[in-house]
Amino acid sequence: METKQFKAESKRLLDMMINSIYTHREIFLRELLSNASDAIDKIYYKALTDDSLTFDKDSYYIKVSADKENRILKILDTGIGMTKEELENNLGTIAKSGSLAFKSENEAKDGFDIIGQFGVGFYSAFMVADEVTVNSKALGSDQAYKWESKGAEGYTIVPSEKDSIGTEITLKIKENTEDDSYDEYLEEYRIKEIIKKYSDFIRYPIKMDVTETKLKEGSDNDYEDVQAEQTINSMVPLWRKNKKDLTKADYDQFYAEKHYGFDKPIKHIHISVDGAVRYNAILYIPEKIPFDYYSQEFEKGLELYSNGVLIMNKCADLLPDYFSFVKGMVDSEDLSLNISREMLQHDRQLKLIAKNIAKKIKSELVTILKNEREKYEEFYHSFGRQLKYGVYSDYGTHKEELQDLLMFYSSTEKKMVTLDDYVSRMPEEQRYIYYATGESTERIDKLPQTELVADKGYEILYFTEEIDEFAIKMLMTYKEKEFKSVSSGDLGFEADDNQNTATEEKENQELFDAMNNILNDKVKAVRVSKRLKSHPVCLTTEGEVSIEMEKILNAMPNNQNIKADKVLEINVQHGVFESLKDAFEKDQEKLALYTTLLYNQALLIEGLPIEDPVEFTNDICKIMI
Ligand code: ADP
Ligand code: MG
Repeated sequence: METKQFKAESKRLLDMMINSIYTHREIFLRELLSNASDAIDKIYYKALTDDSLTFDKDSYYIKVSADKENRILKILDTGIGMTKEELENNLGTIAKSGSLAFKSENEAKDGFDIIGQFGVGFYSAFMVADEVTVNSKALGSDQAYKWESKGAEGYTIVPSEKDSIGTEITLKIKENTEDDSYDEYLEEYRIKEIIKKYSDFIRYPIKMDVTETKLKEGSDNDYEDVQAEQTINSMVPLWRKNKKDLTKADYDQFYAEKHYGFDKPIKHIHISVDGAVRYNAILYIPEKIPFDYYSQEFEKGLELYSNGVLIMNKCADLLPDYFSFVKGMVDSEDLSLNISREMLQHDRQLKLIAKNIAKKIKSELVTILKNEREKYEEFYHSFGRQLKYGVYSDYGTHKEELQDLLMFYSSTEKKMVTLDDYVSRMPEEQRYIYYATGESTERIDKLPQTELVADKGYEILYFTEEIDEFAIKMLMTYKEKEFKSVSSGDLGFEADDNQNTATEEKENQELFDAMNNILNDKVKAVRVSKRLKSHPVCLTTEGEVSIEMEKILNAMPNNQNIKADKVLEINVQHGVFESLKDAFEKDQEKLALYTTLLYNQALLIEGLPIEDPVEFTNDICKIMI
């Protein structure tokens, strides 16, 4: 019989399990039971679309049995079973496991804690067993197969005997050692306790043969022990329970059990509606970004149940894209069990539920923002970008809905602020909401363009994410105040020395024309700057497209080579201006050199690439010698 090796990642997980610490071990049962429940779900789910299958509730269950003497614990389910290939693929390789990916990132920080908190899967059986056998017969096949492993050495798969569809897992519980006892996992009371603790909401009966002490028949003082089958779990789902009877820990546990995420949610929302459409929902606002959140693979959606029966794992229609981070489930009595995906999209009830849910999420976020600012900032750090996409997408349809949830870094507060914060402290004469764009707050802090607006004492919002400016252009106004980039041609207020600017502009028109000629068509104009205080030059733009937008648009795959209309602004108070004038009069070559140098400097400050870095460094050398 060939012994196969585990894949590297699986091996790592396996080692982690074998060497786990005492307090985590009991969760192996939770893992095996939820796998069993998942397997029954799969049949349930299949029966919805496959007429040849009927789902008779009573014939689906999970059974746990312990044999103390032989140190055997069995978990049997009547679920979908596994084929030979599935045994191989599902139990031989567990690299897809999200918890593992998460673990490697946080290994140093959290140690082995992850085992206790999150779904770690099938291999957790090796925390308590030194030998694991999985005997399984898949739905639709005649042959059963047995997967067997003693851990690190690998595993074998051979044909086997099994009468009915489903899976039976046999654990050979480890012998006690000097430090560790494993006996408890064979004790009836302890197994019951673990099932209650972790798996009470499992929707299928978890049965166990338990010993009951009963009066002997016909006697009134003679007792005997009899074996009787009992269902251990209550099976009442959390969402059907009364909110008053539930604690935050219950909701957190549900979140972990359901594998909604590896984090602890920031908030849960428990909704029970008994109106035009009846439904229960438990929604979560996660704390951390799922590792695939901003990727193509991410699928939004809520679990959808029809009267307690899972009908869809990820019902996308229940969540708008801008709230795609929300996890959870919806159960409605008013939805038909046999509804197809296509029909679902047009279902009136579902639309009502979705609308309702979006409203609840919004109001919950507003409440967190109001009452628990720090928590909100944490949330916003993770998912703010999605909200901004929400403002931008669908031609701004949802902007009203989302504008109050936005936050940006403030130049004066040095922290994240809302648009409402900003507008409510605007001085009366200030006409616009000012913003500056750049790679990071540190870089924007040093942008010359911000100087004049900052000097006026006006607050500036820092846009550091690609989506920011696009979202704001879609928003256009907030509380009737327009947004204005500090780099835009007209800042919307009179600079104090406006008169001087005009004079300087006139007096030096020839010089500016000459510079413009030197720069050819790289800029639209060269002008006297009204905004610069200490820096010699900067680039500003005219028209709709800003420099930041040019950068983003040109980085897109369907690059249409869109250019911002750039203006090179010169600070006439700066020493270099005298040098420019001097060169203009005496030495055209020098003027050309200075002009390109200054232009390239302005590009660098903007974070734009300079066309010819070699020429640029040569130019610098020229002024040194
Ligand atoms: P997860 O449950 O997160 O997918 P596990 O390690 O718990 O990861 O299980 C791996 C896979 O093995 C499952 O996805 C499932 O396909 C299969 N599996 C495990 N236990 C059973 C079972 N009792 N019946 C059918 N398939 C199972
Ligand atoms: Mg599992």
